[in-house]
Amino acid sequence: MSEESKVTTKRFIAGAVCPACSAADSIKMWDVDGVPHRECVVCGYADTLNEQGQSVPSELGTRVNQIKPKTADPQVQAVQFFPNPKLKKKTD
Ligand SMILES: [Zn+2]
Repeated sequence: MSEESKVTTKRFIAGAVCPACSAADSIKMWDVDGVPHRECVVCGYADTLNEQGQSVPSELGTRVNQIKPKTADPQVQAVQFFPNPKLKKKTD
């Protein structure tokens, strides 16, 4: 019985107390690439544990960080064309 399933199994940690909202038995835990992740189902608090087993809170702004900065293309310039009235041909 050696399943190599990539499906992450989230399991509740009995007796665990959420460090954010202090709710008991609300912590789910699972591994991602050997890194333990925790998540509170009550308040949404999430963190990971580093190599030292210390809590590393997940940043809330990860979505923002994933957005690529919009860089203006320097080769595209807005060209405003003002017709010179002096070049206007007079129609007889
Ligand atoms: Zn919580």
